[in-house]
Amino acid sequence: MRAEPAFRSGWWRDALRRDSPHCDARPSGCAIDLVVLHNISLPPGRFGGPFIDALFLGCLDTGADQAFAGLAGLRVSAHFLVRREGQVVQYVSCAQRAWHAGASTHRGRTRCNDFSIGIELEGSDHCAFEAVQYTALARLLPALCAAYPIADVVGHSDIAPQRKTDPGPHFDWHALRSLSGLPAALFSAHPR
Ligand SMILES: [Zn+2]
Repeated sequence: MRAEPAFRSGWWRDALRRDSPHCDARPSGCAIDLVVLHNISLPPGRFGGPFIDALFLGCLDTGADQAFAGLAGLRVSAHFLVRREGQVVQYVSCAQRAWHAGASTHRGRTRCNDFSIGIELEGSDHCAFEAVQYTALARLLPALCAAYPIADVVGHSDIAPQRKTDPGPHFDWHALRSLSGLPAALFSAHPR
């Protein structure tokens, strides 16, 4: 019996698939060589609930909470979300360009969405992430590195420092590096 491939048309075998419309084609011939980590919580600072899913799927009721007013019309999605319980949801095929990074620059290249894979962690800048989230990420990242020529794993704040602070000061880059077993060179933006 042959094992199922880790990715089929850019969809990870071990994620729950929920197709988002917030994506389009990558530029042709563009290598996928960057992973961008984010944090998100909706409403801000509250975990669980259906709202991140709804935002990424384009069906968030922006009247459901005062904090959602500024999200009306926002069309965003990462490729992956790692929930507090460690569950991984995939919204966009890695073969497609997900709309997660916005205006951004990495090693002199702009428009990081073109060549990156975006992973959201359910969390905030103000509290620690869950151990199971690192465990999940430490499975997903090596799978991505085996399937794509990933050269760097960075935070959203590394590629959009004027606008973004995520994944934030509580994200433990060292834990991710040691749990994932990936080469330190991938994490050169966070050497310690
Ligand atoms: Zn972000």
